[in-house]
Amino acid sequence: MLTFASGLGSMSYMKRTVNLKLTSTTDQSAALTALADTYASACNAIVSFAREHRCWNRVALHHLAYYTVRERLPSLGSQMVCQAVHRVADAYKTLKANKGISKDKPVPTIVFRPTSVSFDKRTYSLKGDTLSLFTLSGRVKVLFVAGKHQLNLLASGVPKEARLVVRKGIWYFNLVLDLPDTPPRSGGGVCGIDVGENNLAASSTGKVWGGGKLRHNRDIHLAHRRRLQSNGSRAAKRKLKAISGREERHVRHVNHETSKAIVAEALRAGASEIRMEDLTNIRANIKAGKRVRTRLHRWAFRQLRDFVAYKAEAAGLNVIFVEPAYTSQTCSACGAIGKRERHSFSCECGTRLHSDVNASKNIAGFAKPIGSARGARNSSCKFAHQVRPAVVESPRL
Ligand SMILES: [Zn+2]
Repeated sequence: MLTFASGLGSMSYMKRTVNLKLTSTTDQSAALTALADTYASACNAIVSFAREHRCWNRVALHHLAYYTVRERLPSLGSQMVCQAVHRVADAYKTLKANKGISKDKPVPTIVFRPTSVSFDKRTYSLKGDTLSLFTLSGRVKVLFVAGKHQLNLLASGVPKEARLVVRKGIWYFNLVLDLPDTPPRSGGGVCGIDVGENNLAASSTGKVWGGGKLRHNRDIHLAHRRRLQSNGSRAAKRKLKAISGREERHVRHVNHETSKAIVAEALRAGASEIRMEDLTNIRANIKAGKRVRTRLHRWAFRQLRDFVAYKAEAAGLNVIFVEPAYTSQTCSACGAIGKRERHSFSCECGTRLHSDVNASKNIAGFAKPIGSARGARNSSCKFAHQVRPAVVESPRL
């Protein structure tokens, strides 16, 4: 996710993760598997120190566990053991932050499975399309595949920490990059984005991104899921879990593609600001039938919104969140309450629009900003003016 590190001087950096798919040979895969096994053993050994001493401070936990683990697993090497200590300390810190540790009860055991290994600059290096990775049997040089976008990021960012993970027998290297923050754009228009009721998203520039295929797939998933839920057997439960994972990956993919297209559209239209609704309470705000509501998984909306914000920021666009009230019933041309029937909005003033486009024009024009991801900046309300010449500029935070 998007995090802004306080940079050196006035320069600020932004963190992005690239997922590199490794094309490891059989021997290399075996070496990575052996490393992951031993790394997990180290983490699980460190867990017992953390539990016994109720300790998740990195330095203190290092003092408690380091030598024992080094002695027990000499092949793992000093840097990897340090990494394992960090990993365990961070996992317990997260657990504590999520109220998973209570004062009067034993510290829960966190079990580390041999599916991921943390790396840092001392345990990996990157050159061209080759990764050099520490393993128990020395360094291995593994080739990776990356898309054009990933290669661009690699070329412009500074590689930081990383995690080696395996899924279905394929190894991936999830690498965090520090990228110079794109200078913010200014003086362009406001592009309002309505995130999915009828469709996935619509923009005040008149574009609509359909949820057709996504919705269709989800309907199939829901029906299948309902059958499995009513079945209730252990096999059915397992199947249920597999389905939700697959569905989640599919939604994520669609959200990635859609957010990319939304940001491209805003840039094409010359916007310097994107406005979206704050969807925290979307369920309460949606007046829809049960069939529609069952589709509205809150996390899918939030994910699309987060992806748009993330990509918009990376492109130097200002991101503003506004209150979602009335955006779908109000006429974006005259401000009266209009008639909305599924995909079409009509008003007595003669306005006829796609209902989500009408909503996004309202977001661009009238809605009250309630938060800004980057901080307020003045902008001329280009698209809002096109809709309503006498629009009053909303107050900025
Ligand atoms: Zn009207």
